[in-house]
Amino acid sequence: AVSRLMESGLLRTQGLIGGKWIDAHDGKTIQVQNPATGDVIVSVPCMGKTETMSAISSAHDTYYSWSKLTASERSKRLRKWYDLIISHKDDLALLITLEGGKPLKESLGEVNYGASFIEFFAEEAKRIYGDIIPPTIDDRRLFPVGVVGAITPWNFPLAMITRKVGPALACGCTAVVKPSEYTPLTALAAAELALQAGIPPGALNIVMGNASDIGNTLLESTQVRKITFTGSTAIGKKLLAGSANTVKKVSLELGGNAPCIVFDDADLDVAVKGTLAAKFRNSGQTCVCVNRILVQEGIYEKFANAFTKAVQALQVGNGLTEGVVQGPLINKAALEKVVTFVKDATSKGADVLVGGKRHGLGGTFYEPTVLGNVNNEMLISRQEVFGPVAPLIRFKTEEEAIRMANDTDAGLAAYLFTSSIPRSWRVSEALEYGLVGVNEGLISTEVAPFGGFKQSGLGREGSKYGMDEYLEIKYVCLGNL
Ligand code: ADP
Repeated sequence: AVSRLMESGLLRTQGLIGGKWIDAHDGKTIQVQNPATGDVIVSVPCMGKTETMSAISSAHDTYYSWSKLTASERSKRLRKWYDLIISHKDDLALLITLEGGKPLKESLGEVNYGASFIEFFAEEAKRIYGDIIPPTIDDRRLFPVGVVGAITPWNFPLAMITRKVGPALACGCTAVVKPSEYTPLTALAAAELALQAGIPPGALNIVMGNASDIGNTLLESTQVRKITFTGSTAIGKKLLAGSANTVKKVSLELGGNAPCIVFDDADLDVAVKGTLAAKFRNSGQTCVCVNRILVQEGIYEKFANAFTKAVQALQVGNGLTEGVVQGPLINKAALEKVVTFVKDATSKGADVLVGGKRHGLGGTFYEPTVLGNVNNEMLISRQEVFGPVAPLIRFKTEEEAIRMANDTDAGLAAYLFTSSIPRSWRVSEALEYGLVGVNEGLISTEVAPFGGFKQSGLGREGSKYGMDEYLEIKYVCLGNL
């Protein structure tokens, strides 16, 4: 697999600054591992303050020329980048699976999803409108914010970058991207394709290595006008606080604690399939993955049986193996968290309906698990498990379900299954969440706004609203002409 990637020219092992592939100034490196095998794939530079400063300065220099291009010119280059990503989709998917562990089919799905943001924002680039406000001869126009610092996680190593960089470049911003140290290779491959597409050297820079050094350098720089982050709530809060000193714009996509409510009147098949997709995607490692399944008492037994059977059938293994739908967890810490949460739940009265332990494959594999008789006070209901464990919580009334669903500081995604149209409206409205799936488990798309309420974040990504995050509004009053 690695030799195929070498031939494709997409296995890049250096950072990208000002259009040049470079090592860390002190030669330090970090290893990138395959979580399914523990094998080291390659080493990449461990960069810090020095490299980040030079990336910022190159993004800043390039900002002036990139933002002066016509929207149509930026649009053409982004479209070319999209075409290149799609024509290399197999290699990119292979990289995602190798460094992230995701089953190959899901990785292909991510390449399409990730690329869709570039396509969409290439089109939106031409549709940044201002207003002429008639009665007072005022003019409102929109201006790119400037250099953007983007910090991204490992669970969608391509899509979390394109969702930020697509609109940023479309608006005329330039970017310094810090991918997760677990999955830098997909980011570097995407950047290689961006260069090939004619995105100018310096418009998209990639630095990786010491996360807090890079993060702090981005925060301290007055040239960086915007921080956009996807990752844990704890780090997001640090970045928000750290942006105060230079008053940066901030977009945050943080952790969720997604409830999935299955009502008595739900179609059982639809509810089982939808919940399964929303829970076990990427082995439960997405911020919109279902974290708590609230099941009404009249359908509880039927749902628990059918759902457990479906979970039992999930094939676990190396994401490159045909038929595998559940890969490993990203690292040991992720595995330990799952083990701790399951232990906490069972010690407080939850039943293991299937799974409940580490997988026989060893490493960071965990058995797809269903827990029955969970309550909303257990650790697994209070925090995001980020793993293949589905806790079932029983409820009686719609009011009780809404109260439990909203009883959390998170507010990203929520799901509900019902065949009643009035209930679907009523409950969607009552849920304090930024995204709600009704009878549907997979709801992310580039054309709809993605973002959280409460402590799940600030701002929206994707859709026309995703452009606003990278624009300033300027008011010019023309008088005495
Ligand atoms: P996850 O649990 O998804 O790994 P993290 O918030 O730890 O979430 O990581 C998301 C991104 O934030 C990664 O790119 C990581 O390297 C980066 N990161 C971690 N710590 C810091 C920090 N102190 N400053 C800036 N970025 C950080």
